[in-house]
Amino acid sequence: MSKSNRGKALWKLPSRGKGTCPVCGTTRIKLLYTRTLEDGAKAKVCKRCRAA
Ligand SMILES: [Zn+2]
Repeated sequence: MSKSNRGKALWKLPSRGKGTCPVCGTTRIKLLYTRTLEDGAKAKVCKRCRAA
């Protein structure tokens, strides 16, 4: 699999991979990482929230 979080692949995503992070609330940040939240829901989060 190629680098799905980099370059042109992002442009195929809704809003080109950008949006508001549901965890930290930062707007127009790239949401590149899928995380499972505490309630079991999956959410795309920014890289700052990936590790947290
Ligand atoms: Zn975040």
